[in-house]
Amino acid sequence: MLHDPPSKPERSFEIVARRIAAMIQANYRIGQRLPAERDLAKTFGVSRPTVREAILSLAMAGMLKVRSNSGVYVISRQEAPDVHALEGFGPFENLEARQLIEPQIAAIAAQRGTEATFAQLAEALAMMRWEHAQGREADTSDHRFHMVLAEATGNGTLVSISDSLWRAQTESGIWQEIHNHMRMEDYRPMWRRDHEAIFEAVQARNPRKASLAMTRHLTNIRDALMEASNAKSMATTKAPANAPKKVR
Ligand SMILES: [Zn+2]
Repeated sequence: MLHDPPSKPERSFEIVARRIAAMIQANYRIGQRLPAERDLAKTFGVSRPTVREAILSLAMAGMLKVRSNSGVYVISRQEAPDVHALEGFGPFENLEARQLIEPQIAAIAAQRGTEATFAQLAEALAMMRWEHAQGREADTSDHRFHMVLAEATGNGTLVSISDSLWRAQTESGIWQEIHNHMRMEDYRPMWRRDHEAIFEAVQARNPRKASLAMTRHLTNIRDALMEASNAKSMATTKAPANAPKKVR
C-alpha cells in the first residue's frame, strides 16, 4: 500500500514558541518580563536549548525583546506568524540529531577509512587552516571534512543523512541569527583543534577516540551557540548588518 508522504515534521522550537505566545496573550502586558529560561523549561517540560530557540524565534518575529543582563520582555501581544515562516530546524534540535549520528560515523570511518580518506581529510583541514588564516569562515572545508568521514563508511544512507543534517544546520534561520551575534574569530582555534583531534583518531584507526573527538566537537558547537545566544550576547553584540527580515 502506498502511503502519503509524511507532512513536514513540527519543529520543537515552534511548538514551544506557540505555547509561550499563548501564555503571553493570556497573562502578560507589554513591557512585562518573561520568567527565567530555566523556569520556562520546567513549565513546558523541555530543555533549556529548546526554550532558547523558541525565545529567539519570538524575538525575531517581533513579539519579545532580549535585554542585556535583565531578561526577555514582551514588546507585542500580536500573534507571531513569522515564527512559522522561519527556515529550518532549530540549531540545538539539529545538533542533538548530529550527536546521535556523527560520533558513530567517525568511529566507522576509523575502521573503514582508506589512505584516500586520510588524504582527503588532511586536505580539508589544510583548507580550513588557510581560510582561517585569511580571516574567513571555513564552512566549505568544514562541510567537506564531515562528508569525507561519512563517505568513508561506504554507506550511502549515512552520506545522505550527514549531508541533510549539515544543510538543516546552515539553512536554519535561528542558527543564522545566532551567527550574526558571534565573534567567529574567537572560536576558530577551537574548531581547528576539534577537527585535528578527529583526524588523528581516524588516522590512528581508533574508533573510540574518533567517536569521543566528534562528540566533543559537537558539544563545543552547542556550548558556543548557547553562549552566543544568551541575553547578554544577543542584546549587546553587533547587530547584523541590517539583514532584511526574512519575508515569507
Ligand atoms: Zn566540524
